[in-house]
Amino acid sequence: MHIDKETYKKLENIVGKQFISSADIDRVCHSYDATKQRHLPDVVIRPNSAQEISEVMKIANEYRIPVYPRGAASGLTGGAVPLYGGIALDLTRLNKIIEIDEANLMATVEPGVIIADFQNEVEKHGLLYPPDPASNKFATMGGSVAECSGGLRGMKYGVTKDYVTALEVVLPTGEIIHTGSITLKSVTGYDLTKLFVGSEGTLGIFTKIVVKLIPPPERIETIRAYFGSIKDSTDTVSSIIANKIVPRALEFVDEACIKAVSVYTGFNVPNGTKAMLLIELDGPSDSVKKDAERVMQIIKSHNAFEIEKAETEQEKDSLWAIRRSISPALYAISSGKVNEDICVPRSRLTEMLEKIAEIGKKYSFTIANFGHAGDGNIHVNILTEPSVPGELERAEKAVEEIFQSVVQLGGTLSGEHGIGNTKSKYLKYEVGPVEMKLMREIKKLFDPNNILNPGKIFYAD
Ligand SMILES: Cc1cc2nc3c(=O)[nH]c(=O)nc-3n(C[C@H](O)[C@H](O)[C@H](O)COP(=O)(O)OP(=O)(O)OC[C@H]3O[C@@H](n4cnc5c(N)ncnc54)[C@H](O)[C@@H]3O)c2cc1C
Repeated sequence: MHIDKETYKKLENIVGKQFISSADIDRVCHSYDATKQRHLPDVVIRPNSAQEISEVMKIANEYRIPVYPRGAASGLTGGAVPLYGGIALDLTRLNKIIEIDEANLMATVEPGVIIADFQNEVEKHGLLYPPDPASNKFATMGGSVAECSGGLRGMKYGVTKDYVTALEVVLPTGEIIHTGSITLKSVTGYDLTKLFVGSEGTLGIFTKIVVKLIPPPERIETIRAYFGSIKDSTDTVSSIIANKIVPRALEFVDEACIKAVSVYTGFNVPNGTKAMLLIELDGPSDSVKKDAERVMQIIKSHNAFEIEKAETEQEKDSLWAIRRSISPALYAISSGKVNEDICVPRSRLTEMLEKIAEIGKKYSFTIANFGHAGDGNIHVNILTEPSVPGELERAEKAVEEIFQSVVQLGGTLSGEHGIGNTKSKYLKYEVGPVEMKLMREIKKLFDPNNILNPGKIFYAD
């Protein structure tokens, strides 16, 4: 227990009795994230302003109390899990959309705003906020900035870091700072904004986020294709890119995922399907229609045995249905699935998938793969049964080999879910000793007493 009665009282005086709790129910509700790890915080604090957070951090820093920032806790690498107890800092009360500035195509939000709520509000102004993680209906803007979330439209529109231009941040030592600019361009000093985006809640707590917006596309075309081999599907991806067509989404789903969805939803998939691609194109009407025709020809030339193109909004939804059901479908058949989100150069995707299949065979696991093929970013799911003795240890060995192969192919351990504590032990495969030292020194500079999200990114803190 890090917090005695006197310290609790000081914290209570900052946020008010209603917004601090050490009740078991609150501690349990703030003990996990989507990785299903469980570590109880000592207290839960729900602040309502940067000023309150600043005062909380000053006390935490003085008494060396660990603080774990938390949005919707949908993270997939343990980012919000209070590994060493202390304070779970729930940021969901900071949930205002402060401004949508149509004149400058910018918006300012608080971190607790749900991504989809923000996207819907932006749409009402005839604009688009492209970062679109599949968790957008529950994940927060703060969590997505901390993880630099990607999503379905990454290939054409990039990821969260491509949109954040300025931040208000409370440092672990309690100072409130402002980084970046509300202008589109700024090269004034080091780019602290970019350093904070993707920092996984280890360098500071975002209290205001400024992002840029873009006009929405005129037309969207959605196409789904089934293939009899993985190679035909990944060759299709390469050909689309080689033809200089940049879809807004280019999603890959393998046979194991398709089977899981088919059992979960009763969905009929053509016999012999080994892979599926879901392709979405957008832009000015005429050019999108032409691109869609070219993409259909490319798909046919790579032996797809069934192709569907949506003509209505309802048909678009139905084409996306398989892709959207994958996560729950895989959980339904393997509650202990181990989920990684590797990313390799797009041209090495086929090799990577072959390597994963080999590793699956070696360790006797079904490995289900799906994800953003257009970005080379694949969600690798090792389907385990945790009650079987030795199963998790075997899965760990498989993960280690997968990461080694990723690095050999010039890829990266995480495309969008971050390192958290679940991948920290593998960071050294990708980050050299000098770079690691620099990263640790940056952490120390911002957080000299290691109180903000300790146990994340760096192994054995
Ligand atoms: C079904 C499902 C689908 C998903 N799909 C995608 C996807 O397509 N793409 C993708 O990139 N991710 C995806 N994710 C992962 C996850 O949803 C994203 O990382 C999301 O952005 C996390 O937001 P959150 O509010 O849940 O953050 P949390 O899980 O609460 O926190 C994540 C990290 O951010 C830190 N943090 C939270 N708020 C702040 C703040 N204000 N200041 C500083 N640090 C903060 C936390 O300490 C933690 O380290 C998915 C997850 C699930 C469960």
